[in-house]
Amino acid sequence: MVLAQLGGSISRAIQQMSNATIIDEKALNDCLNEITRALLQSDVQFKLVRDMQTNIKKIVNLDDLAAGHNKRRIIQQAIFNELCKILDPGKSSFTPKKGKPSVVMFVGLQGSGKTTTCTKYAYYYQKKGWKPALVCADTFRAGAFDQLKQNATKAKIPFYGSYMESDPVKIAEEGVERFKKENCDLIIVDTSGRHKQEAALFEEMRQVSEAAKPDLIIFVMDSSIGQAAFDQAQAFKQSVAVGAVIITKMDGHAKGGGALSAVAATKSPVIFIGTGEHMDEFEVFDVKPFVSRLLGMGDWSGFMDKIQEVVPMDQQPELLQKLSEGNFTLRIMYEQFQNLLKMGPIGQDGPKGYLVFSMLPGFSAELMPKGHEKESQAKIKRYMTMMDSMTNEELDSSNPKLMNESRMMRIARGAGRPIRDVMEMLEEYKRLAKVWSKMKGLKIPKKGEMSSLSRNMNA
Ligand code: GDP
Repeated sequence: MVLAQLGGSISRAIQQMSNATIIDEKALNDCLNEITRALLQSDVQFKLVRDMQTNIKKIVNLDDLAAGHNKRRIIQQAIFNELCKILDPGKSSFTPKKGKPSVVMFVGLQGSGKTTTCTKYAYYYQKKGWKPALVCADTFRAGAFDQLKQNATKAKIPFYGSYMESDPVKIAEEGVERFKKENCDLIIVDTSGRHKQEAALFEEMRQVSEAAKPDLIIFVMDSSIGQAAFDQAQAFKQSVAVGAVIITKMDGHAKGGGALSAVAATKSPVIFIGTGEHMDEFEVFDVKPFVSRLLGMGDWSGFMDKIQEVVPMDQQPELLQKLSEGNFTLRIMYEQFQNLLKMGPIGQDGPKGYLVFSMLPGFSAELMPKGHEKESQAKIKRYMTMMDSMTNEELDSSNPKLMNESRMMRIARGAGRPIRDVMEMLEEYKRLAKVWSKMKGLKIPKKGEMSSLSRNMNA
């Protein structure tokens, strides 16, 4: 089950419970069982799921909740908190300081995306003003050095490695020393992986770690690893001092639940996720926005950051004002679609287009499932053609009753589309309007206040 589906299942379970006439023990149990099933299907470790269920039941004591309490909200909040708890080990990881040499070592199985992630990590910090360098201490896999070299050259990041030297410890030592001399402040050491965990891999990792003396060891894990995630992560943690986790291939159809298990196994936070093969398909991982997004509540902090990239600065106050008013008109939907199409063919335009779209709260999975960008784009254009046949009154109204049958027929005729297409577009509008309405009363942030906004939304 991919994460979007997991989120969908959990949200549905909560929704079903809310629809129950009375929220009693049975309704709560049904909801929790449904969530348990979804989490297990997503490869979250059994023990974690069972603990979560027990904790929620402990927190939500229905007998003690006097009438008038919003039980649905309390339960939803408990589920949100428990999911966050699984993903939050309660401590943050080492973060490199600009101007001060830090060494970060990457470990993981072969094929997990380690080498790709090293460059993404370096590139991320380079863009923020660090002076990173890459050391290829992977002498096990033929071609590893070439791959790192290629990636590093593309990103204009200095690199170190050898075709001749077969001792990874020596390379790590020499590389780190050299880049320290060159005043690089983020020295990244890529190590060997193996197809499976084995003693030789762990021994080599330990030796490289002793030589490189890393400030941070990052465990890279492929999100499709499934139920094996917990054991694998734990095995790495037992061999070297893993301090952070990066989950790769979150863009694929993998079951993302392994991420949750890896955090529990290493007691280390997930700091980034990989969302594609390209250098900048790499996102900072924050627990609360991630869980919000998982539960269909929208990733507000990511959205606010991204909106600055897409919407021209001078249009932002207006858009934020509209958001805060909570009235989602068809005209706003039209403008949003226009912005999205402006970014070029989504999916072909690199990751940014997809990312922003997926972050627009509520616009994400259903309207634009990844892998179907072309179809989605065609659909958006179709919707816009139909909206072109609408009157100003229709576009500016947020009253759903206005759109009666005769109006729909007129629009369908004008756009040369069957009436069911108009109905579909209006359904989509209603869905988005519902999400949008959650923004009502939004405190419009001044510049630099984006993070406080996200805190408000997640509260
Ligand atoms: P390593 O053996 O652990 O160093 O793995 P590589 O860095 O060589 O990556 C293995 C494959 O996974 C390559 O084809 C990468 O392009 C691909 N890959 C790495 N990260 C991601 C990601 O986040 N998303 C996707 N789709 N592919 C990835």
